[in-house]
Amino acid sequence: MSIAENIKKLIEELPQGVTMVAVTKTRSPEEVMEAYNAGLRVFGENRVQELISKKALLPEDITWHLIGHLQSNKVRQAVAAADMIESVDTLKLLRMIDAEASAQGRTIDCLLQVQIASEETKSGFSIREMEETRWNELAGSLKAVRICGLMGMATFTDDLLKVRTEFKNLADLFRHIRDYHFTGISHFREISMGMSGDWQVAVGEGSTMIRVGTIIFGERIKK
Ligand SMILES: *Cc1c(COP(=O)(O)O)cnc(C)c1O
Repeated sequence: MSIAENIKKLIEELPQGVTMVAVTKTRSPEEVMEAYNAGLRVFGENRVQELISKKALLPEDITWHLIGHLQSNKVRQAVAAADMIESVDTLKLLRMIDAEASAQGRTIDCLLQVQIASEETKSGFSIREMEETRWNELAGSLKAVRICGLMGMATFTDDLLKVRTEFKNLADLFRHIRDYHFTGISHFREISMGMSGDWQVAVGEGSTMIRVGTIIFGERIKK
């Protein structure tokens, strides 16, 4: 199937209100344009440099999400180019993004990445850190960052029961943090979870944002 056909099918299957972030890493600008012409406007890249170079070539009404680990020496460029940073994994990084966005005179939307998988390789706040941080005070001290919700990646496994449990843990944590720290803050509403292999499971557990590449564009060719 073509990129456009893949997208059409996905849009039909995706419940109303769930945002599809098309993950464009390693894809050519032409492939991204096919997705754009099929109606998608939200794209995700995991490297700052690749986001910047694609953004320069593509239409201006695209919303760009940074979804990969952000190094501190790339914060300036990330803040200048991205609309949302989904991969904020330390308080230090959050404060750096805030300082930089403030200096650039812009507001940037962020998600807090949570380590829900049993694999140690994935970065993110631990569930314990999430529970112990005083997010209400912290969010009040930020000038140019809006904390819009949480992001997580499940363990890479065929065991969908395990995946479901991990997504459920993230959704439970989201509700807890929202009710205790972000009461009445309407922009704290996103749970970004679900990739090509597990998005249906994620949506079943309350995902508001799926990040999918392979099921739109096909298998990535490893560099
Ligand atoms: C690559 C990537 C995705 C998309 O992966 P697919 O399996 O191709 O859908 C989603 N989220 C993150 C953080 C990624 O790096």
